[in-house]
Amino acid sequence: MADMTNPYHIVQDQLRRAVANLKLDQEVYELLKSPMRLVEVSIPVRMDSGALRSFTGFRAQHTDAIGPTKGGIRFHPSVTADEVRGLSMWMTFKTAVMGLPYGGAKGGIVCDPAELSDAELEALSRGYIRRLEAVMGPELDIPAPDVNTSPRIMGWMLDEYDRVRGQNSPGFITGKPLVLGGSAGREAATGRGVVFSILEAMHRLGIDPHQASAAVQGFGNVGSHTARLLHAAGVRVVAVRDVNGGAFNPEGLDIPALLEHVARTRGVKGAPGSEDIDSESLLTLDVDVVVPAALENQVTEAIARRVRARIIAEAANGPTTPEGDHILDERNVFVIPDILCNAGGVTVSYFEWVQNSMGYYWSENEVNRKLRRSMVNAFDTVYRMHEEHGVFMREAAYLVAVHRVALAAEARGWIHSHPEAEVPSAPMQHMAPETVKT
Ligand code: GLU
Repeated sequence: MADMTNPYHIVQDQLRRAVANLKLDQEVYELLKSPMRLVEVSIPVRMDSGALRSFTGFRAQHTDAIGPTKGGIRFHPSVTADEVRGLSMWMTFKTAVMGLPYGGAKGGIVCDPAELSDAELEALSRGYIRRLEAVMGPELDIPAPDVNTSPRIMGWMLDEYDRVRGQNSPGFITGKPLVLGGSAGREAATGRGVVFSILEAMHRLGIDPHQASAAVQGFGNVGSHTARLLHAAGVRVVAVRDVNGGAFNPEGLDIPALLEHVARTRGVKGAPGSEDIDSESLLTLDVDVVVPAALENQVTEAIARRVRARIIAEAANGPTTPEGDHILDERNVFVIPDILCNAGGVTVSYFEWVQNSMGYYWSENEVNRKLRRSMVNAFDTVYRMHEEHGVFMREAAYLVAVHRVALAAEARGWIHSHPEAEVPSAPMQHMAPETVKT
């Protein structure tokens, strides 16, 4: 029996449905149902105590039909092989929906980074790359940050790759520090993309951002930038929450004061003028938009029944369970699916990789302009699919994405099916018309 909290099973089910809806040949499912490569490694680290400890790491590379595989590396105690498998497949569909010239990958190390010293974290990050560099590279598989990994960690990983290879390859990894060839705007890019997609959804649904309210679950890189940029766009952010607690004020949180509080205390709890709020209450608040920006499986069936928001913006990967999804669909909640909503990160990673290959760099304004154009174009493509085919937004995003991957697989001669279904195809990045005024 498929476990429907397992990301790998969830994405296989999503793929199966898209293949059926597009009336594609079963070969498409057969080809894409599993990652083409999953590597498990054991990484020995000399701990500060003098003891040797081995950590388990994974890298899943789903398909390189459209281009080199791409995706982040997460450090978390709950990482499993199936989680990275599932997440690598979501990356394939995310890059495809955005029209990026990539396939999907994801990596992870089973660890709790909060328990590691800086020296141990650096040794672990370098050890991971030493174990996996043979199957990585700017034209093979390009890592990036994910849960609990940062530009600093990307810097160590880049250095390890360069040392082992005896070369200097800034395009090996994205989300790295600016001084090593990182892109302006990359750190805030996922949150910025989330906000662009929320504003598009509000526009379609006739919601005025200046009259709207939002709640954000998760206050890491994605959640914090999302809250900050929603506030900047005039949306009243009434609640946020991180792993240790929440901050809630029905009148709207003072986001600049909250960010100062977080910089001081490393958590949102106790922010000026706020009271605590638990996750379940946050997700079911009477607001216009709820943004799950933490981990998988947060919006369960029980929560979905009680959601009062008009829009769920999936800033995390896989935050809604399939049962939850079904209820949201039934209740006519507008879901901006993860593979579209949080694609701003990998989109600016793509810009970073392009800049690295040219050795020529863009301003933050230029990056943000290009990001907006990509997000609005992709949103528009998925929305048209949703309207014209009368399918839920998630289903629509999968139709666009799976169709594109199937076309590439067919063009390479890997499958014999002819994916000719009538699908409004989003322009690929390199041929994206300037349809959006910036
Ligand atoms: N980890 C991010 C994601 O899930 C970014 C991946 C990337 O930039 O390659 O989309």
